[in-house]
Amino acid sequence: MSSDLPVLYPLGIIGAGQIARMTHLACLKLGITPRLMAEAGDDSAALVAPDAVYGHPDALSAFAESCGVLTLEHERIDIGLLERLEESGVIIRPGTTTLRASFDKIHQRRVLLNRSYPVPVFAELRGPDDLMDFTGVFDWPVVIKAARASRREERSVWIVETQEQAMRVMSEQSHRQLMAESFQHIVKELVVLVVRRPGGHARCYPVTEILHTDGAVREVRSPAEIGPKIAAEAKDLAMRLADELDAVGVLAVELFLTNEGLIINEVAARPHNAGHVTIEGSPTSQFENHVRGVLDLPLGPTWANAPATVTVNVIGNYEGTDPADHLADALAVEGVHVHLYGKSPGRGVKLGHVTAMGDDIEQARDMARRAEAALMGKRP
Ligand code: ADP
Repeated sequence: MSSDLPVLYPLGIIGAGQIARMTHLACLKLGITPRLMAEAGDDSAALVAPDAVYGHPDALSAFAESCGVLTLEHERIDIGLLERLEESGVIIRPGTTTLRASFDKIHQRRVLLNRSYPVPVFAELRGPDDLMDFTGVFDWPVVIKAARASRREERSVWIVETQEQAMRVMSEQSHRQLMAESFQHIVKELVVLVVRRPGGHARCYPVTEILHTDGAVREVRSPAEIGPKIAAEAKDLAMRLADELDAVGVLAVELFLTNEGLIINEVAARPHNAGHVTIEGSPTSQFENHVRGVLDLPLGPTWANAPATVTVNVIGNYEGTDPADHLADALAVEGVHVHLYGKSPGRGVKLGHVTAMGDDIEQARDMARRAEAALMGKRP
């Protein structure tokens, strides 16, 4: 064991949602009890972590003092506060330079563009003139994005068809920093997860494909059904980016595959929702590898355990169906892995996910969908 490990204990995680819950489980497996900073007592991870504290972000410095190293599960925290903590000697992994590129979409676009990575054409929207300039050059629809999400489940993307719609979004969101972006004709949405240690050793998971329904990620397929050339290109791009951003732990790179090639949509410096598929789909989950990376421990293998693995998210419906009430029906689908997050059911709330493996994507997807339908009380 590395001699500097004691300095890194305890591991502190800012946030206590489902990502922290699964990271916490991965820690327990390694005999590590992380400290969590939750926003509310009924946060998904706070329900299971004995060492969770609840606090306003202002309480962060006290929390930081009680930890050897800090990592994050979300971006809803003031980056300036983290920078001040880092300057005062607190170890934050990944560091704040990486985090700033992950937190702020406008800054992120600029960083990527400066390094010649493929990104959609974009412009900051400081007022109606910027919108006129942008829409004078680019075709409708136009995508408007908020640079940051400060509240949970806060909407941050609007695809607008007219000047009027765009102006309405700008006026409703005038308290937020906005940007306009060219609309991409997406063939597939891909996510590449890289995990990296502070010294630079890095590994990449198989490229995954994400599918949306009603604006929410519904399904994750691993591997993505793309050719080997695109897969290699996507992995190479993500590995290079992880190095250039000096990522530590998981770096998730969301890509659009278009007819013109790969374009980076977003980069997140933390475990990603698409990576739940790695819990059963790979020998080492993204959560365990994030912890290993942050604590500078040897990384685990990231290859695929099966020819195909599919995760289907369990999303709350209007009727408030509680998947916990239908657990037995879902577990009766032989071979699926059910994960419930302990959240109160509500429309659009991500309540859990199910993962299935198979000889091909179709087989794995059918199993996972059957289990998800059972959890939501739907008859097969
Ligand atoms: P969030 O951070 O809220 O997930 P994203 O930037 O990932 O926001 O965008 C959410 C979804 O909106 C994407 O997965 C994609 O389907 C769609 N989208 C985002 N940007 C564009 C774009 N430039 N062109 C077309 N669709 C887009």
